[in-house]
Amino acid sequence: MVHYSCDACKRPIHPQNDVHHVLKIEIFPAVDDLGPECCHDADHLEEMQGLLEEEAADAESLDEPSRLLRFDLCDACRERFLRNPLGMALVKQLDFSPN
Ligand SMILES: [Zn+2]
Repeated sequence: MVHYSCDACKRPIHPQNDVHHVLKIEIFPAVDDLGPECCHDADHLEEMQGLLEEEAADAESLDEPSRLLRFDLCDACRERFLRNPLGMALVKQLDFSPN
């Protein structure tokens, strides 16, 4: 039997006692954000696509432009994630009591 541990709190997730959640995050460049103004004619659009392809080739040493991340979470960490999906670090900052 495969045993998982929570990727957030490192607690082992027991297959019977705990609920095992899988969190998948996909991140990719939103090329649609270029907006309609820059794409008036087909020539320009083609040019843009050429540029994008060049950039992609240049970025070879970095991670691929699109990544799918997968995490195993326990029930408690699933709750925490849903309350603040982007804020694991932010939560710590907010914990400081305003003296
Ligand atoms: Zn956890």
